[in-house]
Amino acid sequence: MLGLLLNKPGELELKELPSTTILQDNEVKIKLIYGGICGSDLSVFKGRLAHATYPICPGHELIGTIIEVGPNSTFEIGKRVVVMPNSYCDECENCRKGRRNICENKKSLGVNIDGGFSEEFIISEKYVMLIPDELPNEKAVLIEPFAVIVHALEKVLITKDTTVAIIGCGTEGLLAMTLAHHLNASITGIDINKEKLEKIRNFFPNIQTGLPEDVKGELFDIVIETAGARSSFEQGVELVKPGGVMVLIGIVPEATIPIAHVVRKEITLFGSIIYNAPCDFQKSIDYLKEESFKVDQIVSKIYHFSDYTKAYEDATSGNYGKILLKFKEE
Ligand SMILES: [Zn+2]
Ligand SMILES: [Zn+2]
Repeated sequence: MLGLLLNKPGELELKELPSTTILQDNEVKIKLIYGGICGSDLSVFKGRLAHATYPICPGHELIGTIIEVGPNSTFEIGKRVVVMPNSYCDECENCRKGRRNICENKKSLGVNIDGGFSEEFIISEKYVMLIPDELPNEKAVLIEPFAVIVHALEKVLITKDTTVAIIGCGTEGLLAMTLAHHLNASITGIDINKEKLEKIRNFFPNIQTGLPEDVKGELFDIVIETAGARSSFEQGVELVKPGGVMVLIGIVPEATIPIAHVVRKEITLFGSIIYNAPCDFQKSIDYLKEESFKVDQIVSKIYHFSDYTKAYEDATSGNYGKILLKFKEE
């Protein structure tokens, strides 16, 4: 079977990979439909993720159809599934406290264990979830990235008219916007890219948008940082109302903030990493299943996986929302 292999940072190739024929225990073999390219895939590609290992098969936002099952699997052939791409041990202290997202023994597909940008992919059924029939593939491929937002926004209370600033309007920013909009918040989207802001205004006429300089001096109940940039984090802290909350989703390597401001204004900072599987996946599916929950604006382009070079280039450019690799034939 064909699959992508990242030999070392910057060296990605499409090659014939060995295809396992005998499945163990409760493993399932998935024929891929779509794979979403994530910011973390790009970090691994650029060699900017310290815990990444090489060579590695990239890809963790995966949906597909089960085509084979191991002797102890409870899944049925022919069912569509989404992959939960971060392992958890259920034995470490964090897992035992119900925080599988920060499992001490976590392995992440496409980062430090082979991922699934390939025609077929094998994984334990522990890490797959059925996709309900009413969820089309183009929505189902967002279950994983949206689970990140579901998890993050559970740390705060968003109700009608809560003022929310979302910094960074990439995939995660747009998904946060979609959820906050669904919860009737009063939203401001902030990005350095004017075209992205324009698209948001077209899709959500009642969402405010602005460049970072446009929102100077404004204050919000909740600030959500998804850009992962020093400047957006530093500005984000300034934008939080006294007594307000900031949720950090983007991974900012380093920044300098006036701690006295955080203390005096009694600002709460929440870090949020991935999700608790499977519950956050289930919640993500429940939202996406709702007819009124529109995510058409999130996926920008779909490439056949053999066009991976162009797909990675577009994903790296920062000019688009989600870029998908398509594995199924029409
Ligand atoms: Zn992802
Ligand atoms: Zn654990």
